[in-house]
Amino acid sequence: MPSLVNLAGKRGLVVGIANEHSIATGCAQAFRAAGAELAITYLNAKAEPFVRPLAEALQAPIIVPCDVRVPGELEAVFERLTREWGRLDFLLHSIAFAPREDLQAKLVDCSAEGFAMAMDISCHSFIRMARLAVPLMAEGGSLQTVSFFGAERVVEHYNVMGPVKAALEATVRTLAADLAPQRIHVHSLSAGPVKTRAASGIGRFDELLDRVRERTPAHQLTSIEEIGQVAAFLASDAAVPLTGSVSYADRGFHIVA
Ligand code: NAD
Repeated sequence: MPSLVNLAGKRGLVVGIANEHSIATGCAQAFRAAGAELAITYLNAKAEPFVRPLAEALQAPIIVPCDVRVPGELEAVFERLTREWGRLDFLLHSIAFAPREDLQAKLVDCSAEGFAMAMDISCHSFIRMARLAVPLMAEGGSLQTVSFFGAERVVEHYNVMGPVKAALEATVRTLAADLAPQRIHVHSLSAGPVKTRAASGIGRFDELLDRVRERTPAHQLTSIEEIGQVAAFLASDAAVPLTGSVSYADRGFHIVA
């Protein structure tokens, strides 16, 4: 897809590629097509063989492990960025997790441990990334995370991830206010449903896709390539007037009652 935005000379961190179907993959491809240089993380040794070829195809000079639950690993990513780049222009946080039994239970039955883990990996990790990014963004920057309409309305089977994404979107607003003096813009990118590995943990996801396709004005689902175009815009200087808000890449699903 031709790029509408210019990210030439910009350096960005992409966290959340698991395989070629990941939303973060569509975003990384769009960032690269717009001219950005990328640092790309993979979860662990098991994930590396799936992520490394994608990262190499994008000529990423920095390919590093990052499990946000492993103490020091996120800090090590930023130490590497500091050492090799000395600055960062944008980052994409495209990660979420909830233990399967909590994700598939009604919220009323969600365990405290599952709730805390989902919040930590899917939301608080974005705060930690923002904190680590600030010293590298002396000339301003863009932080974005990936959300879903289940933050705003009850989506069947989305369960605990509804409150987690609501917290994530509120986090984006608060970080946007906190970091405005540093000229750091913070965005929620609310993506339409896509068949990914994370999505396969959501109960009856195929039915959700059918329902969304049916209700979306053009009766079409959103692709990771399309989501990537919006992500590239949000990472660009053209998006400077935006901060703290939710940008939808869902072909209008959210506007329909
Ligand atoms: P995915 O499975 O491709 O990506 C999820 C990523 O989260 C993986 O790369 C995984 O390694 C990472 N992750 C999980 N635990 C982690 C940890 N402890 N440390 C670091 N990384 C960890 O699925 P996806 O659908 O591309 O998910 C990306 C984001 O998009 C998530 O925030 C998800 O909630 C959001 N989202 C997905 C959809 C959808 O329908 N797929 C829609 C809207 C929003």
